Amino acid sequence: MSDYSARVGELFDDQLKGWDLARDNYRQLDNVMTRKFSYPCFDLFVQFNPGRITSSAAKVDARSIEARPCFLCEKNRPPQQRGVAYEDDFVILVNPFPIFRRHLTIVSESHTDQRIAPNFVTMLDLARCLPEYSVFYNGPQCGASAPDHLHFQAGNRGFMPVEQDFGKKPLCTLQAANEGIELWSWEEYRRGIMTLRGTDRYALMRAFEKFYLRFELMQPDRPEPMLNIITCYSDGNWIIHVIPRKLHRPSCFFAEGKDKIVLSPASVDMGGVLITPREEDYLKITSRDINDILDQVCLTEDEIESLTSDII
Ligand SMILES: [Zn+2]
Repeated sequence: MSDYSARVGELFDDQLKGWDLARDNYRQLDNVMTRKFSYPCFDLFVQFNPGRITSSAAKVDARSIEARPCFLCEKNRPPQQRGVAYEDDFVILVNPFPIFRRHLTIVSESHTDQRIAPNFVTMLDLARCLPEYSVFYNGPQCGASAPDHLHFQAGNRGFMPVEQDFGKKPLCTLQAANEGIELWSWEEYRRGIMTLRGTDRYALMRAFEKFYLRFELMQPDRPEPMLNIITCYSDGNWIIHVIPRKLHRPSCFFAEGKDKIVLSPASVDMGGVLITPREEDYLKITSRDINDILDQVCLTEDEIESLTSDII
């Protein structure tokens, strides 16, 4: 496995020089506004990012998906968009609608459904090949705006608070450890998260599979159990945050008038940066709204405990 940092760095330089849309949208990040909400042991941020409206408000029902040309298929991508081939079957692209200063979309070369079970190992390998990035996965019903085309995203490390919060006491507790793998739990973090950390790629895959099969029993009617995953590779260890979900979008997303808040939670929101593409929502959202949204879409810490006991 080689380090793709240099090639991806060149891709960014090239695209920000030669592709107006990308250059303008990355420049716009200078104007993004952020509010901080402090909790006893951590902070959450709300970011006003109008460039994300297409993604946040994307219609992802089967009929709408079928009716549109897939924007991740090569034949429909903008002609200015270049990529770096990753292995035989993926291409690394600059995301032209960024949240991060460095925001990538890593797209399967074939138009195939967004599914994590057969592709979890690809995510681990990507994280190792992109050590400056957190690689994340949005399930087909948890924020992926192309649920019919397999893809991951990656953003420069240090942006999502979950990265710094991991390991902090009293938020995080080591639940179990085996050779090359650890299972960590979270407390009072407002959203149920399971974290795996370790050097043993195979043990991590096996633990994720056990968790997945157990979670699948809770959501048998879904294409896959609902989840977001954020992973990075640091000091020889993978750190994998799995955020199981019970709902895609909270009730305020569908409300009318003053109760409406367009916030469609996906990995970055779960990582601690909630994206509001409408300024009015950014200005009016309260910590009560945030708590309500997280309660609606996430599992409780007790539910996480029952899903993760004895998986390693
Ligand atoms: Zn496609």
